[in-house]
Amino acid sequence: MNTEFEELYQQIILDHSKRPRNFGPLEDPAAVHVEGDNPSCGDEIQLHVKFGAAGEIEDIKFTGVGCAISQASASLMTLKLKGKPRSEAEGMLKAFSDLITKEEEEAPRMLGDLRLLRGVRRFPQRVKCAMLAWRAFEQALMGSPGAETISTE
Ligand code: ZN
Repeated sequence: MNTEFEELYQQIILDHSKRPRNFGPLEDPAAVHVEGDNPSCGDEIQLHVKFGAAGEIEDIKFTGVGCAISQASASLMTLKLKGKPRSEAEGMLKAFSDLITKEEEEAPRMLGDLRLLRGVRRFPQRVKCAMLAWRAFEQALMGSPGAETISTE
């Protein structure tokens, strides 16, 4: 990891953890709600997703508390997934999971700033933090509308 990359990484993580985007409840009867936690770090997330008529990610928001990496990953994820067709969102989920768990040098361009999180793959505990929001999203893809709550554990 070069210094420039590290500085950018710090900046983006700090920015998103301090001012998370799409943070807040989603008061919509059609929304799917997923609750997830990562006890080893103390991260908690409530992910709220509204799927459109064609299955696209019409709206996505989150609430919760946690370390900078879990918050930043959730914030960046919502920015990336909002408005995306379901198939593209699923591709993003797979690409991000591969990025932080596999030894691949090339980070897919479609992940944008999320590529900055690839450094966490050297730290298994941090991988759980970065994956928390994404695991919740994976559950949301399988969930049904209403007040249903699914645990990621
Ligand atoms: Zn954490």
